[in-house]
Amino acid sequence: MDADVAVIGVGTMGSMATWQLAKRGVSVLGFEKYGIGNDRSAVGGESRLFRTAYMEGKEYVPLLQDSQRLWKELEYGTGKSLLTLNGGLMIGDPDTQVMRNVQNSIEFFDLDHEVLQGKEAHRRFPQHRLFAGEIMVLDKNAGFLRPELAVTTAATQAEKLGASILRYTEVKDIQPDQWGVSISTDKRKYRVGKVLVTTGPWSVTFLPGLSHHLKARRLVLTWFSAKDITKFYPKNFPIFARMRKGFRLTGAPTLDGTMVKASNTKNPELIEDPGQLNRDVKVEELREVGEAVKELIPDLIPEPVRASVYMDAYTPDDHSVVGYLPGTSENVMIASGFSGHGFKMAPVIGKIAADLLENGKTSYDIEHMDPNRYVENLT
Ligand SMILES: Cc1cc2nc3c(=O)[nH]c(=O)nc-3n(C[C@H](O)[C@H](O)[C@H](O)COP(=O)(O)OP(=O)(O)OC[C@H]3O[C@@H](n4cnc5c(N)ncnc54)[C@H](O)[C@@H]3O)c2cc1C
Repeated sequence: MDADVAVIGVGTMGSMATWQLAKRGVSVLGFEKYGIGNDRSAVGGESRLFRTAYMEGKEYVPLLQDSQRLWKELEYGTGKSLLTLNGGLMIGDPDTQVMRNVQNSIEFFDLDHEVLQGKEAHRRFPQHRLFAGEIMVLDKNAGFLRPELAVTTAATQAEKLGASILRYTEVKDIQPDQWGVSISTDKRKYRVGKVLVTTGPWSVTFLPGLSHHLKARRLVLTWFSAKDITKFYPKNFPIFARMRKGFRLTGAPTLDGTMVKASNTKNPELIEDPGQLNRDVKVEELREVGEAVKELIPDLIPEPVRASVYMDAYTPDDHSVVGYLPGTSENVMIASGFSGHGFKMAPVIGKIAADLLENGKTSYDIEHMDPNRYVENLT
């Protein structure tokens, strides 16, 4: 045996799982096709939003609260600044499903928040143009994460705790049997007890039964100059998610003192082959997000000054797949399909994966992430 557990894909979830496993003293071997913290799929672009008043469903709130604690633990153990809680604004029509989900999360878990509208909203956050009937919900336990630093920090910490991580090593195939799993890479073969597949958009390579349900999608991030950048410093400008017409505009304060991130993440484009991600940004994409910014954040200059392209794995219901897949060996589990909103919960997903790999069970409620929900449709 080369290790008790192999983690295939040391990106967001893989780095956190490797850290969590190494912390428990499990012998763990990570395989990463590129370098750690690479920007080929879902890591990159300077910031990721952390929110607790969750618009994707209140079932995530306990996971996010624990994730917040784990982000702080990783910071404390390494001296790195990964999560800045400068607040978060959810902006939109209160009668929409996403804004109702935000309210449900708040009410059910008694989350620290404020609801702002009209003149008071304008006084507090004049950067956002609010339309009649819209409200702002200020989530006090929200802010931004530093994605590249988070992944490299978790991987480095895992290595300090005894994990081995093979960089620039592509896993080509896994062959599970009742005693363990054989792994073939572009270099040599390995033998381990169990495997965790965290290859994001590439996960169907190893679990083809999920190929009808797990799809890669392309997301474009954009940054804008400001008329007065001081209005967009973290202390003045919480992270935000703004739902309006065809847009889901999300963004973060300026982190370099020159540019503000504001991106349209509605309906990301489907990609047939994640290996063929088109990293060019179309003029139309730049124009569209610029129009949204012009309408909604008038203090920004509405032509993007920076743009970059990433991808994530999406499921039909936008909930991930975390667990063992029936029909495959009990030695292979998956954590993928985070559908554009997984970064904030990565440490707790790492902990859940470690629970399942070590003990076969977890105390977290992850029913909504159960891969079994797709089983009747497996081909
Ligand atoms: C543009 C964008 C913005 C986002 N914004 C937010 C946000 O604000 N807040 C939030 O919470 N979430 C956000 N998300 C979602 C979040 O970033 C993802 O859900 C999460 O990072 C997915 O992690 P992952 O581990 O599944 O995939 P990844 O982090 O992509 O990791 C997959 C890894 O597997 C490796 N790999 C692939 N194939 C192989 C192989 N054969 N052998 C070895 N290694 C392999 C890859 O190189 C990669 O390192 C965003 C996503 C994107 C793309």
